[in-house]
Amino acid sequence: MKNYDVVIVGAGASGLYAAYNLPRELNILVLAKREEDLCNSSLAQGGIAGVYESPDDSPELHKHDTFVAGGYENDPVSTEVLVTEACKDIGKLIELGADFDKTPDGDYHRTLEGGHGKHRIFHHADCTGAEIEHTLLRTVKALPNVELRDNSLVCDTAKTSTGFSLLVLKNGGYETINAHFVIFATGGIGRVYKYTTNSAIATGDGIAMAYRMGATIEHLSYIQFHPTAFNNRHTRECFLISEAVRGEGAYLRNCKGERFMHLYDKRLELAPRDVVSHSIIFESQRTGSDEFFLDITHKDPEFIKKRFPMIYKNLLTQNIDMTKDYIPIFPCQHYLMGGIKVDTYSRTTIDGLYACGECSCTGVHGNNRLASNSLLEAHVFSRRAAADIAEKAKTTPKDFEEHTFDLHEGAPKMPEGNRRKIRGIMQEDYFVIPNVKGLKSGLEEVRKIVDDLDNTRYAIDSDYVVARSLATCAYIILKEAQDICAGSEKIPNMPIFEKPE
Ligand SMILES: Cc1cc2nc3c(=O)[nH]c(=O)nc-3n(C[C@H](O)[C@H](O)[C@H](O)COP(=O)(O)OP(=O)(O)OC[C@H]3O[C@@H](n4cnc5c(N)ncnc54)[C@H](O)[C@@H]3O)c2cc1C
Repeated sequence: MKNYDVVIVGAGASGLYAAYNLPRELNILVLAKREEDLCNSSLAQGGIAGVYESPDDSPELHKHDTFVAGGYENDPVSTEVLVTEACKDIGKLIELGADFDKTPDGDYHRTLEGGHGKHRIFHHADCTGAEIEHTLLRTVKALPNVELRDNSLVCDTAKTSTGFSLLVLKNGGYETINAHFVIFATGGIGRVYKYTTNSAIATGDGIAMAYRMGATIEHLSYIQFHPTAFNNRHTRECFLISEAVRGEGAYLRNCKGERFMHLYDKRLELAPRDVVSHSIIFESQRTGSDEFFLDITHKDPEFIKKRFPMIYKNLLTQNIDMTKDYIPIFPCQHYLMGGIKVDTYSRTTIDGLYACGECSCTGVHGNNRLASNSLLEAHVFSRRAAADIAEKAKTTPKDFEEHTFDLHEGAPKMPEGNRRKIRGIMQEDYFVIPNVKGLKSGLEEVRKIVDDLDNTRYAIDSDYVVARSLATCAYIILKEAQDICAGSEKIPNMPIFEKPE
């Protein structure tokens, strides 16, 4: 089939949950560019935050913590929606079979992470994302109106008089697919960096396609660097040591084995992520070393193994026993707060085009996401996108116009090296503390790459699509960062510290 009511680009939590919430009478296609569960959702460890059947907690308190972490740059309306509707979606995930951990008395075990004033994070040991992703995959695969295709890369999207056409590359062949409504649920941009916790699919494809179609992109320079990625500087994908490890009492130590967070922020190891990442960089400047460790050896070994089974096993493969050894860590790229600008129903500035999950900018995270709020955002706002489409689809004409894409037939392959160059620039000029002086030349270099990829006829293969997405996202990030610096004395990404007494 090539005509659908709705095409959802992305099979992570947000894409699948949108498919689940759309009316059963609509024909829906969900596309994943690689394996069906290869995505950031599957990697989430800590959990999903939200107030659900918690008498000692409230959406008001959750909102307060979200605002503090987000530097009060959060959108108040969408944040209100996030915290008040959390109970609906956490309840729904439980109903669909997501197996969140329980305490011995049968209540849900709610854990704590940096920035949260209450225990409000539902989790499945330390692999919550995989549990949610597989629950949703099971659910969506059972729906007769939803078709799920893996290894299907959307290379381009065009607006038509009846909706959209998408150019899809699968097994080396192209297909044009038409839809009345499109939801981009394409995830983050981590692979624009040399070191990231993100999965290989996180190349910003949806953001770049939306940008090329003229959609508004907002706050792309609001990038979160997780303070505790496992420090193995040999692989691009850095294994995350979840914030929940600090939530359970782990200490941060410098190259001398000393705790240091008290020098920078009175919330110590449980300060929000941006504060902790900045503190690590300040401490590395003070000590002249980038050796840092996470230490949870003072906790009961059996508790550690049961609470963090995946992290424990993964570290053992690196010859680190976290019950006895310090864990080497360093910040790396982790999450994108900005993205395709949407309203509270995930509507972009282009009629019929929706965006949800990490590729969207709902504004709920402000300039720094509170831990475990992104899985929540992915669910709340994809459900709302589905509700909006359900209403509009009632009056949508049934015909489809098809756009003819230029397939660049016979064109040569793009030269190698673009992606490496972009990653080098981003790592150098726009890491935890931006290199304000380097932004201009970095932006100029990236602009040249974008111009070349947009204006030269290269073969449209996955290398080209990814390079063009990375270049476009890097360009928007650096341009926005440069504008922030030029307009004021403000340094992008600077967190609000709570100074020690
Ligand atoms: C290591 C790690 C740990 C995390 N831990 C937590 C946590 O504990 N709690 C929390 O709330 N958040 C956490 N996050 C963040 C959270 O997991 C993500 O923000 C969220 O899951 C993103 O979901 P998504 O549906 O937007 O995107 P993803 O789950 O990344 O899915 C993106 C989908 O888009 C598809 N796609 C992309 N481009 C194309 C294309 N061109 N054509 C076709 N398909 C395409 C991909 O194939 C994939 O199916 C973590 C992230 C990481 C990386």
